[in-house]
Amino acid sequence: MQAVAMHKLRVRTKDQVLTHYGNGKLACVRCGFGDVRALSIDHIHGKNNMEGRPRHYAASQFYRWLISEGYPAGYQTLCMNCQWIKRFEQGEHSRKDQLFATDPGNRPAESCPKLII
Ligand SMILES: [Zn+2]
Repeated sequence: MQAVAMHKLRVRTKDQVLTHYGNGKLACVRCGFGDVRALSIDHIHGKNNMEGRPRHYAASQFYRWLISEGYPAGYQTLCMNCQWIKRFEQGEHSRKDQLFATDPGNRPAESCPKLII
């Protein structure tokens, strides 16, 4: 398959998966943001709760796996802003993120007060 055709197939697959996990819309389920360039699949219960899910090194592999598995539960479409906010709200952020957020020169936003030590 030619490169252009492969690219179109990957875009179609991504749109299909994001729409499914966007509850029928190609948009973030939290805020409704709809620019596909900033949308991705979020693991609802965090990346530490993905038993049975093989590791994928490319998003396109992950999208194909979701389709092949019949769209398993536990995923949702979020925009990158909502992904980051959720990470902090649910303590999914890394130690590095926490240090960055608590650095006096980089105070966290009002939505993340629990991170201030
Ligand atoms: Zn959002």
